Amino acid sequence: MDNIKSTSTQTKKISTIFIVIISVMLILSIAALFQVFESYRRGRLDTANLILSVSAVTISIYMLLQLRVKPLKLGFEPQKVLTTIECVSCGYKMTREFKAGDFMFKKVESCPQCNERMIISSIYKAPQQKS
Ligand SMILES: [Zn+2]
Repeated sequence: MDNIKSTSTQTKKISTIFIVIISVMLILSIAALFQVFESYRRGRLDTANLILSVSAVTISIYMLLQLRVKPLKLGFEPQKVLTTIECVSCGYKMTREFKAGDFMFKKVESCPQCNERMIISSIYKAPQQKS
């Protein structure tokens, strides 16, 4: 888990640098594209330059889009939800995984200690587990 965390922060740093580099590349290639259009207006078509700048613009935009998608995906980590059940009579507590239909103060199974009614006292997201 720690390894994954440090890797993802590293990835974020790298992608920030990449975004800057790609943005510069994009600006330069758009400038190059404008120059191609300028010379075309003067009656000279620079095909090689045109292809080069168009593909540079395409690659830059594609890479920017790719980088934008990845950090979003990294943000989604499945989190466990836990339910704490408490005995109203003796205070016995137990925690189990959240089940569909659980809600605060719902009456659940009886207490294993005193056989009194138990209620759900809290529902919360489990802290990130370290493995
Ligand atoms: Zn009890």
